[in-house]
Amino acid sequence: FDMFVLAFVERLFRPTFRKDDFVLGKKLGEGAFGVVYRVSLAKKPSSKEGDLVLKKATEYGAVEIWMNERVRRACANSCADFVYGFLETSAKKGGEYWLIWRFEGADTLADLMQSREFPYNVETMILGEVQDFPKGLERENRIIQTIMRQFLFALDGLHSTGIVHRDIKPQNVIFSEGSRTFKIIDLGAAADLRVGINYIPKEFLLDPRYAAPEQYIMSTQTPSAPSAPVATALSPVLWQMNLPDRFDIYSSGLIFLQMAFPALRSDSGLIQFNRQLKRCDYDLVVWRKSVEPRAGAEMRRGFELLDLDGGIGWELLTSMVRYKARQRTSAKAALAHPYFDREGLLALSFMM
Ligand code: ADP
Ligand code: MG
Repeated sequence: FDMFVLAFVERLFRPTFRKDDFVLGKKLGEGAFGVVYRVSLAKKPSSKEGDLVLKKATEYGAVEIWMNERVRRACANSCADFVYGFLETSAKKGGEYWLIWRFEGADTLADLMQSREFPYNVETMILGEVQDFPKGLERENRIIQTIMRQFLFALDGLHSTGIVHRDIKPQNVIFSEGSRTFKIIDLGAAADLRVGINYIPKEFLLDPRYAAPEQYIMSTQTPSAPSAPVATALSPVLWQMNLPDRFDIYSSGLIFLQMAFPALRSDSGLIQFNRQLKRCDYDLVVWRKSVEPRAGAEMRRGFELLDLDGGIGWELLTSMVRYKARQRTSAKAALAHPYFDREGLLALSFMM
């Protein structure tokens, strides 16, 4: 069956919406390229807070709609459930793209990491009940493993589809209350290399706190975007050559690091870490040698967590945060890393 026919039939039977269908609720976020609200349907005011999310986006909204449509067909569970996107034209503002998703939940990973309870607050959300096992390093490690596994699973879905996110950070990882798993949001800076959409990196979209040192996704020797059909034919090769997905892996490694070290969860802590790592030529082992001798109790605890089980956590971390993109692991390989093997064993040991 032809993909185009399928896509057409799907569109035909999906509900379409326009501006007046929505009642605006609380503002959830405001960036340079759009404003995000919680909304409900005017026809269906049953839920008072609204079970949908609306992003009113500027010119980049067109690409974001395209990315979300593609994700829904290719790897739906990786990202927030996309409902509909359209161009809204008004006399006052001209063109504005409206994007609608299902409301996944109230907390991003950033919100959850700000809590002093982290990672125990996440354990409760994933398991839905309070555990009475003693709190300790092994249990924290197990929760962080689960978060990383769910997140990397979502990221692998995107990468296997040919999409690089380019804005991976805790603010763009949301806890889906329905599926009790973490999903990725905000495809506003994403690039689909297989069809040449958003092919030329827009560096100004990148968040410097989480960006890998190369900054550019494609090497500068790839001067311009080929036309769509050529890009389709060439891009798997380009993907192999440039490994653009490894940009997201670096950012993912920083999230892992922030989960292990509470001091790196604040903006200032992360910025300071980035400065230190740069001074160490992006070598985590050198960084560790420089900070560990004068580390306080909290920081030592972070290293201790990563050192559990023969240091497999530390091994995974150092395979993600590397200067050279081609030396970084992929999302798929990371999921197969022994760090995630122990999970079942540890869960069992809790019960004994
Ligand atoms: P921005 O371009 O402003 O970063 P995002 O797509 O990241 O836009 O959305 C901004 C914020 O809105 C997110 O950090 C999150 O708190 C919330 N949000 C976005 N999408 C959803 C969703 N599907 N369900 C619940 N909250 C969402
Ligand atoms: Mg965002």
